[in-house]
Formats: sequence, structure tokens, C-alpha cells
Amino acid sequence: MAKTPKYVYLFGNKKADGDGSMKPLLGGKGANLAEMARIGLPVPPGFTITTEVCTYYYQNKKTYPKVLDPQVKAGMAHIEKIMGTKFGDKTAMPLLVSVRSGARDSMPGMMDTILNLGLNDETVLALVKATNNERFAWDCYRRFVQMYGDVVMGVQKRPGEDHEPFETVIHNLKHERYHEDIEDTKLTVDDLKELVVRFKGLIKERTGKEFPQDPWKQLWGAIGAVFGSWMNDRAIVYRRKYNIPSEWGTAVNVQAMVYGNTGERSGSGVAFTRNPANGEKEFYGEFLINAQGEDVVAGIRTPEPVVQLKNHLPQAFAELENIRKILEKHFKDVQDFEFTIQDGKVFMLQTRNGKRTAFAALKFSMDMVEEKLIDWKTAIRRNPADQLDQLLAPIFDQKAEKAAKVVATGLPAGPGAASGKIYLNADRAAAAAAKGEKVLLVRNETTPEDLRGMIAAEGILTAKGGVSSHAALVARQMGKVCVCGAGALQIDYAARTVTVSGQTFKEGDYMSINGTLGNVYAGEIKTAASEIVQVLIEKSLDPKKSKTYQMFKQLMDWCSKVTRLEVRTNADTPEQTENAIAFGATGIGLCRTEHMFFEGNRIDAMREMILADNLEDRKKALAKLLPYQKEDFVGIFKALNGYPATIRFLDPPLHEFLPHEDKAQQDLAQKMGVPVEKIRNRVKELHEFNPMLGFRGCRLGIVYPEISEMQARAVFEAAAEVQKAGIKVRPEIMIPLVGFKKELDLQVEVVHRVAQEVMKEKGVKLNYLVGTMIEVPRGALTADEIAQTAQFFSFGTNDLTQTCLGMSRDDSGSFIPAYTELEIVKKNPFATIDQTGVGQLMKIAVEKGRSTRPDIKLGICGEHGGDPDSVKFCHKIGLTYVSCSPFRVPVARLAAAQAALEEEAASAAKKPAKKK
Ligand code: PEP
Ligand code: MG
Repeated sequence: MAKTPKYVYLFGNKKADGDGSMKPLLGGKGANLAEMARIGLPVPPGFTITTEVCTYYYQNKKTYPKVLDPQVKAGMAHIEKIMGTKFGDKTAMPLLVSVRSGARDSMPGMMDTILNLGLNDETVLALVKATNNERFAWDCYRRFVQMYGDVVMGVQKRPGEDHEPFETVIHNLKHERYHEDIEDTKLTVDDLKELVVRFKGLIKERTGKEFPQDPWKQLWGAIGAVFGSWMNDRAIVYRRKYNIPSEWGTAVNVQAMVYGNTGERSGSGVAFTRNPANGEKEFYGEFLINAQGEDVVAGIRTPEPVVQLKNHLPQAFAELENIRKILEKHFKDVQDFEFTIQDGKVFMLQTRNGKRTAFAALKFSMDMVEEKLIDWKTAIRRNPADQLDQLLAPIFDQKAEKAAKVVATGLPAGPGAASGKIYLNADRAAAAAAKGEKVLLVRNETTPEDLRGMIAAEGILTAKGGVSSHAALVARQMGKVCVCGAGALQIDYAARTVTVSGQTFKEGDYMSINGTLGNVYAGEIKTAASEIVQVLIEKSLDPKKSKTYQMFKQLMDWCSKVTRLEVRTNADTPEQTENAIAFGATGIGLCRTEHMFFEGNRIDAMREMILADNLEDRKKALAKLLPYQKEDFVGIFKALNGYPATIRFLDPPLHEFLPHEDKAQQDLAQKMGVPVEKIRNRVKELHEFNPMLGFRGCRLGIVYPEISEMQARAVFEAAAEVQKAGIKVRPEIMIPLVGFKKELDLQVEVVHRVAQEVMKEKGVKLNYLVGTMIEVPRGALTADEIAQTAQFFSFGTNDLTQTCLGMSRDDSGSFIPAYTELEIVKKNPFATIDQTGVGQLMKIAVEKGRSTRPDIKLGICGEHGGDPDSVKFCHKIGLTYVSCSPFRVPVARLAAAQAALEEEAASAAKKPAKKK
């Protein structure tokens, strides 16, 4: 007989069916609740419905597997047994539960939660009797009806409504009875009872349905709502941002309620075992006395720092300090946890690896190695490669910041410097950012609905709420600068103004925030380079004086110890080359020579060359270009100081160099002493319907070999000069857009011929390679033939993506957002390699290339060379190097090291365990 599938996993009483390793099945929250129960932490009992049920739910018209019902019943019985209470009990203390979502990766605030489930008109009276606390019981009930009405029954803000409908009911009652907005904690029992009546009325009016009194009906409604929230708008936006596949699904956690709102000896909080903003080893977080967990994260009341709990409930604080240590020792990473204190007793409701800024990640990893909690290889893994460039982002110019006026201060929630035009609404912020404005999103409190605006903004500023409000967590993870709880700000959403320190700022006015200090400034402030950039690039800061730099260097040194992939750079100038080398690049992987033709007088000579209608004139113009090119290469070879340089010959369609506007054409005609008609006609002649697939790449050098000749001469003459000066040179000449071996043969012939000539003329021996870009599918598919000539391949994945997918790289912006939204593509294929399609072509080319020339050098120089996922893919298929823009070099180095470590771990897992 087939085994009944297990859909429900129990935990509680220091035992659990699952454990921390089961995140795919139990979600992050469920797996860690099980783990905490196992290690003896005080976890209220409960059960987790697996993510498989979520998948089933969506595949089967929102229904459940038949066996789920008895398993959920058994789960409830398990909780009842441990708690000694009964679900729906009308005579004694009733069991109430929370129902929460929990995906594999945490998605703070994106999905729904329901608390106090099990209350109805009768059980609330039992709760009153059992707790002897009428206010508490009715407060729980009105919260539950409100949450249930909102989340399960869908009573939400309608278009045109300014406030949540339940909040409006509360507001009206307060004004009727007290003529002002009193705090919720001041509401009397009678007020709360009246709210329950009015809430139920609101639900009936909006949905036509009654609020359900049957606790089991409530439970199934809540479970359905949590599964339903997996597909809500904000969860979808979040998943897209973090590339979480929709098929993962969420789990549902049902857990016995514990109450932080029973009085002054109770409370709720959120804490981190270390500071997730600046990485300091300090207990960090916040709590509210007499409150349920939602109050802390909702940002409505500003909570107190967790260390102050010591003054209110010293014993509970001591217990939490102890838990903090146990968590780090056990999970070996910084934890972000939720707790509730009920009448002095601490309960743990959740723990997960804390989201952190790039800076905090770096500091945690360094400190934990020192504390021997982790080893250096783990430290490499702990630094997310896609966050590393936060460390290179600008900070405020110190002088400019000192001169600026501080108009308010708040909590430093996300470090860094941000300056921008203020917007008070997420949609308007996103629209302004789409127009290219630098935007600061300013809100009373940040909520998950603001996600789009937060993504678009440079920084986020809130008037209320604490540093662990859900959206502040999100801001930090995104690496956004964030200042929270700047209470002096008076935000008027209707008038679209912010008033502070006697000054009124309108939407569109500039403000600035320092998320490291928590300062808010009037106006725009100039920014300066990050400390790492000041040390390495500007050389204006003594490396010994920068702790940040020291940590960064340690991380990069560790990376070098394990990395197999080399990291080169895409650079066209000596300055870019020097920058990349300072960041650890070991050569140039792509020098786009055409970029050298745009500066100063060069463009004139280039245009002359293009306009020439005979060989002789073309050669004359090329002769003018030669010294410029040579000079550039001399500079680059010197900057490289012995590292290799892959120099690509002319690639873009020629019309890109010509003036298209009338005035510019007239100016050029005058400069060249030719009639303007001649220029107009040539521009017309060069017009192509599809220039990216037109007369470009090696086709230029094949039709006009004199162009390649000039370029080869410039390279070799420069190489000879630099070599004579005692510096090693390693030129690697690269022919673009090759699809046929013969194309490459023709160009290589020119290169070799010129090399021989120059060597003879200069009396030097030069070592060089000639290779090709693989950037059209035919090149990849015939790589074995091409490798007969090519000494190296470099994947031009920009064009390879364009030609493999048949998507114009310059026009894809109009439809790719829809494609990612619909999950046709998981990520933008022009940013992250489409492994199944383009990646397959790459694998074929690697295999075929090596079959002809086993030691062929293989690299990548498309934009993907600086994208962590793509770097890892390049490692897997065995490339020799990746090449990316100078400021992405550290990111690529980190990703390359992580790829090597992943491979090491995978091969260790495959090896049979040693016999004892
Ligand atoms: C490429 O196509 O990936 C490439 C590096 O060349 P370019 O971007 O200059 O076309
Ligand atoms: Mg290309």
C-alpha cells in the first residue's frame, strides 16, 4: 500500500518532526521553529503545513489533498495536548492560534499573518473568565476580527479611499466618543466591544458574508488566505526582485498563541544577535511593552531599543541575552528573531539568518572568523556577491555634509549617503525615478505596499517606526540608504509636503539623508567616493586608517586563495586599466578599440576614413588615426605592466561614427573642405535597416583590410616600444563577430603579416595571440573549425544573447519587464546568462573548441562577466577567465571564489564517507 504523504510536521515540547535543514519543504520559518524546539528553546507548540500543499493548491484549482484534513486535526490535537487547552472551548481558557506564512527564503511582510484565531462571541467570554482580564480578551478579539476581515475576507481599501476601512471605523469611534485620536491602549472594554460589533457590520456590508463564528471554519479560511497571499501583488514584486521562483510556494505555520498584550509584564519584540546595519557585536532590536508582535513591525508605535528591556523586565532580558548566545552558537550566523514575553516568560516565535547590509555582512564574517565560529571559507560564502558593490558606493563629501543643515534626526537603519528629490508616494517616486530623477521616498511609516517606490528610490526616510519594521529590513537588504522614525517630520500626504524645523519641503524638493548617522538634511549634498575607492583608486586615504578597506582586502585575499577563474576587465583607457588592476584584475579581457575613436580630433580622422570613396584616401585617413591608436596602446600596455591585453578590432556599424543632424553635417563638411552633399549621401549610403546584423564586426576588416592593418600596426608598434622600455607586453588580438572560419583566417593573415613587418622594422620579437569572439550562434556551433585558427575564444554574450534569442539588445527594454513578470524568463537575459539557451551554445563551443585545441584559452567579455550567477556558470563550464567593467571586478572575484567553493563542497559530498 502506498504510504500516505506527510503534509503536516509537528513541533513543540523540545521535539519536532522536522529540522532546520528542511527549508524547501517547511519554509524558513517552519524549519527553524522545528530546529529551535529541538535545541530546547521555548517555542510555543504548533505544526507546519508543507510547501507541497501550496503547489497542490495552485495545481488543483485551489483545493487541498484529501489527507490534509485529518493531519491538520491531529496537529491541533497535538497543540491542545501540550497547552492543556481546547480549540473552541467555551467554558475554560480556549486555545487560540496564529496562522502565518513561511516561504523557503524569508519575504519580510510580503504575505499574510492572522493572530488570535479561535475567538468568537462565546470563546471571548471564556477568555475573559480564564484570564480575568476583560480588556485583554476584547482587545484580542477586535484585533482578530480586523485581521481576519482584512486578510481572509478581503475588506481592504478601495480605490479613492485614503485609509484602511477598519482604521476608519476606529478613527470614527474615537472621534465620536473622545473627540480626538486617543492611543489604542486607551480604548475601554466598552469601546473594544463596540468595535467588534462595527467591524462585523463592516464585513457584512462589504462582502455580504458574516464573520465566521466556527473556529474550524476560521482556521481553514486562514490557511487558504496564507496560500492565497503567495500570489498577491507585493509578494510577486518581491519575488521578482529577489528571483524567488513562484513554484517554491509557501508553507503555513499554525502555532499556539502566546500573548504580549496581557499587561505591563508582557511585550513583543524583534531582535538581531548583532547589529545588521553596521555589523557591531551588540544586541540590537526593539520591543514594545503590552503589545502583540504585529505592533512592533507595523511601525505604528515607535518601539524602544531592546537593551532597554533590562529596565522593564530584567529577568526576561537576561534570558534573551542567553538565547542570543545559544542562537549564534547553534546557527553559526547572525539571527533575526521574534519573541513574545507573556507575564514575564519568554517565548521564541521565529528565527532566521538576519538580513544585513553589505558592510555588516563583511564585518560579521571577519568577526566570526576571529571568534572561531566560522572558518575563512565560510566567511567568503557569507558575503553576497551581488551586494558587494554597496561597499564601493559613494558617501557624502565630508565638507559638504558639515555645511549642510540638519533638519531632523532618526534611526540609522541603512547606512550610506543618499540625496534626492522627495516623493511621498511610492508610485510617484517610481515614476520620477523612471524619468531619471534621483528620488528619496518619504513616508510616515514604510509598509510592504511601498516596495515599488523603495526599489526606485536612492534612499528611504520615515517619520515613524523602528529599525526592524518590515520595510526597513527590506530597505537594508536592497542596500538602500534608510533613516527611520525621524519623528520631527510632519508629513502631509494630501498637500504633498514635509514640514520640519520651520521649513516646508514640497514634492520634488531636494533632501539628503545619512543612513549611517541617522541625519536628515535640507537640500542636495555632494557625495564622495567610498573609503575603499579612496584607498585604491583615488589614493587619498591611508589604507591603515580605513578599517573597511582592511576587511575588504582580507576578503579579497581569501578569495584569491580558492579561485580558479581569473578576473580580467573591460577597459579602453590606461586609467580604467589601472583602476581595474587596483581592484585585482589580472589583465584586459576586452579593449573596445572603437571607443578610442570618439575623442577629440580622432573622430574627424575616423569620419574622413569612412567618407573616403577610394583606397588611397582611406589609407591617408587611417594614417592619421595610427598615432592615436598607438599612443593609447602604449598607455594601456604600461598600465598593465605585464598582464595580458585582449584588443578587439573595429566592431560597430560605421554609421555610428557619422553626424546625422544637418548642422553637424555642415560643420563636418566645412572642416573637411567637401560639399555637404557628399556627407549627406554617404550617411544615406551607410544607412542599414538592421545595423546590428549588418556591416559590422569582422565584416569591416574583411571588406577594408587596410583598417585591420592599421590597427595591427598600432598594436605591434606600441608593443615593441613598451617592450623595449623593459615592460613585458602580452597582446591578444581579437576578431569580432566571426561565424565562419574563413572570416577569421583572412583577418589573421593580415595580423601575422603586419606583426612580421613590425618585428623586422623594430628589431624585436613579440609574443602575441590571435583569437576570436564567439558571439553569433554559427561561431559557437562551428567552434571546432574556428579553433583551428583561433588561439583563444572570448564569449561576447551581449551579441550571443541577441542573436541566440533573436532579441535586439538595444530594444529589449520595451518587453523584457513583461517577460520577467510573466516568468517567461527568470532574469533579464542581457544581465544574467540564459543558461538553457545561450549557455548551451557556450557549452557546445567550449567542448568543440577544446576538441581541436585542448589548451585553448576561454573567456567571456559580455556584460554578464560581472554578474554573480553568470560568473558561477562560467566557472562550471570551465572558462579560463571572466572580464567585466573595473568597478565590478571585486564582485566577480567574490563570485568566482564562491563558485570554486561550491564545486569543492559538491565534490566532497560525492566522495564516499571514509570508513572508521
Ligand atoms: C558582446 O557582444 O558581448 C561584446 C562584448 O561586444 P559588444 O558589446 O561590444 O558588442
Ligand atoms: Mg559584440
